[in-house]
Amino acid sequence: ESLIKIENMSLEYGESINSTLALKNISLEINKGEFICVLGPSGCGKSSLLKCIAGYVKPTAGRVLMQGKEVDGPDWHRGVVFQSPTLYPWMTVNENVEFGPKMRDLPKAEIKEIRDFFLDEVNLSGFGENYTFELSGGMKQRVAIARVLANYPQVVLMDEPFGALDALTRENMQNLIRNIWKENNTTIFFITHDVDEALLLANRVVVMSKQPGEIIKIFNVDFTNQIF
Ligand code: ADP
Ligand code: ADP
Repeated sequence: ESLIKIENMSLEYGESINSTLALKNISLEINKGEFICVLGPSGCGKSSLLKCIAGYVKPTAGRVLMQGKEVDGPDWHRGVVFQSPTLYPWMTVNENVEFGPKMRDLPKAEIKEIRDFFLDEVNLSGFGENYTFELSGGMKQRVAIARVLANYPQVVLMDEPFGALDALTRENMQNLIRNIWKENNTTIFFITHDVDEALLLANRVVVMSKQPGEIIKIFNVDFTNQIF
């Protein structure tokens, strides 16, 4: 079932002689429940593609449809996780994760239930009362993931989320996100320049060329041999 449809999308930054063509004629469908990794060299337009899907940037040509409706700005249906987590430093871990459910005016008990469920999913039960600046990089990133998931977004867009972490933490985070994906039937769109990471995580890999970013290959990954 198709969730997001990108149609003949191009993106140009700036105007005339100073312009940069970042994306060229991108067409792609993201199906419900997929784990897509977008792979490509630095500067090829991966972040730009993610920002267009998120609604932060408007494409110069073409469009992004979500369930048939054109994306025209960010909203909580498309949750974003960046390389450096942007958390609210004046809020505790609990308050960060509760933020979305509170905006929806859910009953207190349900907010608490959602919060505790996703904190457990990211192995942070027991850290709820901490402030996020007290946590390690990997833990911060896990708070950011829990905060996004607590909104029950239709798709989670991740822009090199583990790129700043040390190797061991990264490996733990890769396992964690795979498990969350499997257990919650989440749809994930994940950007990386790391071939190993893409092959490890994705069930479908989209490969982009160097700038201007075009899709040069899409392939399915058979992960029956992978151990999780
Ligand atoms: P990637 O995520 O693959 O590293 P980006 O999407 O960040 O690639 O960038 C693609 C191209 O667009 C690069 O040439 C980059 O310099 C350019 N670019 C990105 N953001 C902007 C911007 N806000 N203004 C002008 N050029 C930009
Ligand atoms: P739908 O598209 O399913 O009809 P809406 O986008 O209309 O849902 O959202 C329903 C209401 O819930 C809106 O008022 C929206 O602002 C609010 N909402 C839900 N979750 C959040 C959130 N995490 N942050 C901000 N507002 C939210």
